[in-house]
Amino acid sequence: IHPTAARRPHAITVQSENTLYSDEHITAKFQNRGSNVTVTDGQYMITPTVQSYEFQTKRTVGKTGLMMIGVGGNNGTTLCATILANRHNIIWHTKEGVQQPNYIGSLIRASTVRIGTEAATGKDVHVPISDVLPMVHPNDLVLGGWDISGLTMDKAMQRAQVLDYDLQRQVAPHLALLGKPLPSIYYPDFIAANQEARADNVIPGTDKQVHLDHIRADIRKFKKDNGLDRVVVFWTANTERYSDIIPGVNDTADNILAAIKGSHSEVSPSTLFAVAAILEGEPFVNGAPQNTFVPGVIALAEHHQSFIGGDDLKSGQTKLKSVLAEFLVNAGIKPLSIASYNHLGNNDGHNLSAERQFKSKEISKSSVVDDMVDANRLLYKAPEIGPKGVPVAKGEHPDHVVVIKYVPAVGDSKRAIDEYYSEIFCGGRSTINIFNECEDSLLATPLILDLTILTELLTRIKYRDLSKGQDFAPLYPVLSLLSYMLKAPLVKPGTEVVNSLNRQRNALETFLKACIGVEGNSDLLLDTRIW
Ligand code: NAD
Repeated sequence: IHPTAARRPHAITVQSENTLYSDEHITAKFQNRGSNVTVTDGQYMITPTVQSYEFQTKRTVGKTGLMMIGVGGNNGTTLCATILANRHNIIWHTKEGVQQPNYIGSLIRASTVRIGTEAATGKDVHVPISDVLPMVHPNDLVLGGWDISGLTMDKAMQRAQVLDYDLQRQVAPHLALLGKPLPSIYYPDFIAANQEARADNVIPGTDKQVHLDHIRADIRKFKKDNGLDRVVVFWTANTERYSDIIPGVNDTADNILAAIKGSHSEVSPSTLFAVAAILEGEPFVNGAPQNTFVPGVIALAEHHQSFIGGDDLKSGQTKLKSVLAEFLVNAGIKPLSIASYNHLGNNDGHNLSAERQFKSKEISKSSVVDDMVDANRLLYKAPEIGPKGVPVAKGEHPDHVVVIKYVPAVGDSKRAIDEYYSEIFCGGRSTINIFNECEDSLLATPLILDLTILTELLTRIKYRDLSKGQDFAPLYPVLSLLSYMLKAPLVKPGTEVVNSLNRQRNALETFLKACIGVEGNSDLLLDTRIW
């Protein structure tokens, strides 16, 4: 995956009356097929449905910026340093030999999709996901952002202790050109007290409206100074405590704006950044677990038709869990308990050693098996619903615990230990133990890239419902198509969260293919099953 190898013009052409190409757009017709089910007395009545849509993708990828909140942290500095290493093709020496920069771990840059079969050979044809539609190349992202720590980016990279020394040495002069992060909003009540010593680069005062205006001005200036068409604003700062949801304060769009004006104590820094991005019409992604998107923020994003996505990067343990739990339940095996222990020694771990910040992480790690359990009522008893539709007894669920401990010695190399204890045939038991050791920031960084690239792409895609004869409109502002990279996916209020990694990837793949008019490419492989 050489950085320059991927810089070719859009490589796919679909020859079909359903797909139209103009200089400006790719427009494709799509049939959304589903089934309506009515359940009466244990009988399922199914009516197949089909709805016709059209997707329109703007072909020109504008100049794109990425402004990270927490840019001076492990993820922020690792992302900037590795992009610069790729951009300048810096190779470095490790004890194993010479290492080239790459984008391994990025779904967009390092994985492929099956696009069809070759007519001559009948063999599957796979293409890089980044070839399906025009997408921004990570090397082209303009980087910037805020941090409450004022260390320059080269020094902050050294502090993170993530990258090999020889890479640090060579990339430092490039990173130094990024200078110091912009001063940020610091409310000590929201992150752990142990972070206080870092906070030497903060916007003065306590007036939250002034802080909001300051961040909005930063975004506008960054856009103007760099001639950008789009800026993705990305929270990769410390995990905050949860904000209380208070009626009249953060429950509606108007209330949250009023609460900011009144400097209400429950408005967190991350919520202020999200509101700033929404009001500037730029997308905001939350890479940490806290409830930045209080109901008022979601309503504001809807009102301004501005894109938001979250929550919490799904890098290691949870990603595996969303695969393993689904594998077990779909195999007809019944997990009775899932016990997860983590220890890590980086600054994120330090912050998470405080109770309220750990709580945010615990919540985001906890719901990951819920949809698999709900999908199999042969194994798990359903909740009992009383005569008035109110649940009278809880449904069955595996015991699920999550523990995180701070062990400074292991630094950025996180340890995750998971036990899956399951019921098997006729009263038998099976235990699967996983011990996973991984360099945390090197797993997380490619996810930030994927989220940024996809978010930028989704701002260029419009749709219309052909049965309604409507004009092309942007997608719904909560970008649940980003779920694959997120631990606790934010979805349209009232719709179900999908945690299964396979289903999340399928959704994305199907959507990207639909935008070029390729459908029905399932694993049925009918021609291999018939004469
Ligand atoms: P880090 O502690 O190294 O970096 C966070 C940075 O945020 C620090 O430089 C800190 O000074 C800064 N910061 C704190 N509050 C701020 C504010 N209000 N404004 C601006 N900057 C602020 O942590 P990290 O390892 O880079 O992780 C970042 C976030 O991503 C954490 O919330 C973590 O939980 C989340 N996350 C990380 C991973 C992973 O695998 N690394 C996975 C999932 C989620």
